[in-house]
Amino acid sequence: MTDDKQHKRADFSLKTRELTAQRAGYRCSFPGCNRTTVGPAEDPQKPLITGIAAHIYGAAISGGGPRGTGGLSYDELKSPQNAIWLCGHCASLIDKNRGKEYPPETLHSYKALHETRIAHEQAGIHTPFGWINKFTLHSSPLFSDDLEIEFAKLNLIVGENSVGKTALCEWIAGISNPAYLERWETLTRDSLKRLSYRVDYYNPDPHRIEVDFLCPKYPRYKLDGEQTFLSTDTIKVIFPVSIEHRFQEMRNDRDIVSDSMKLHPYELQAICDELANKSDFFKGARFEETDEGVYMHVEVQAANQIESRLLRLLASSECEKLMLELGIITATKLSITRPTLLILDADSWRIDTDWLKRYAEVLGSAECRFQTIVSTRLTDMNFDEVTWSGWNVIRLDGTPPDAFILRGHLRSDRPEGTGSGG
Ligand SMILES: [Zn+2]
Repeated sequence: MTDDKQHKRADFSLKTRELTAQRAGYRCSFPGCNRTTVGPAEDPQKPLITGIAAHIYGAAISGGGPRGTGGLSYDELKSPQNAIWLCGHCASLIDKNRGKEYPPETLHSYKALHETRIAHEQAGIHTPFGWINKFTLHSSPLFSDDLEIEFAKLNLIVGENSVGKTALCEWIAGISNPAYLERWETLTRDSLKRLSYRVDYYNPDPHRIEVDFLCPKYPRYKLDGEQTFLSTDTIKVIFPVSIEHRFQEMRNDRDIVSDSMKLHPYELQAICDELANKSDFFKGARFEETDEGVYMHVEVQAANQIESRLLRLLASSECEKLMLELGIITATKLSITRPTLLILDADSWRIDTDWLKRYAEVLGSAECRFQTIVSTRLTDMNFDEVTWSGWNVIRLDGTPPDAFILRGHLRSDRPEGTGSGG
């Protein structure tokens, strides 16, 4: 860093401020506010703009601003990625207490959700845009305390093996389909601590779903305090699991893939037909019924031509990529009509820093109107890079039944001189 920049503020350019406002539809990005920030000025030749492009990480290079610099460079701090569009009232709200109540991850998630909402409305879709706001665990056989997780658009659960990552994914998925909770019938039977949790979501009005495994045989569901008995299905969850291990036991690829995605075979075919439009690598898929079984043929973009390959003969990494792309297409389609969550659990996917950065661009884009939860084992992860690319990191620690969430910001070391976040 040069001396010149040492005392500088990374102010946004006019172009960056305009871009931020336009992407927000000139409306405040703070959840529940949504106030219009553009209108007629007294001068009939001019608009009146009342919104502000606020810094997510602080503008002061010294790190003295609210929320620090997060180790970002001068250019990163003044980039559009570091700006969130807010009304005057909300802009002052987020800077109170040196920004403690609104850390950068939270503001990133507000921005992503708001842009997604604007894209939803711009597409002329009249179903309300919704999202999951919070998961609250009241009691469980794995975690020591009540725990609360605020959800962003992109969420990353990290922790060592058997700390409860898959469990969290299953519980959240259990709000849409009780099949995800089957394992917990046995696992809670011998435990003194029953499984009980709550999921809050906006649609855009606030709602809550409560799940209680109090009764020994099955989970009980409540929507906004009313017993519904059956799962409510107001939130769609797509939780694709890996399929390769099933090729030995089953000769029906259509059933294997449909089961993994919890889709009807008709829905699966519709999703496969979308591959050609959405994927760079896969150009379609079809099923062939023979006397021995049902086989899936995948059209793959090879060097100069499209090759038809049997699903069972794809390399592991290609099979994983296919399931992931089918999952993303499914979530994209479902999110047109209701809040949708895509869950990718560590048991089925190989996820590292590069994967997270690459997929943040896809899953974080306004085109993807659903939320994502990814779980992965704790590896040598660069948390600064992962957080900056938009992931809300939830770090689990401890050993069941006393596992817990590690609080506080996750910062990995950055080279000297780029600022430490004051
Ligand atoms: Zn506001």
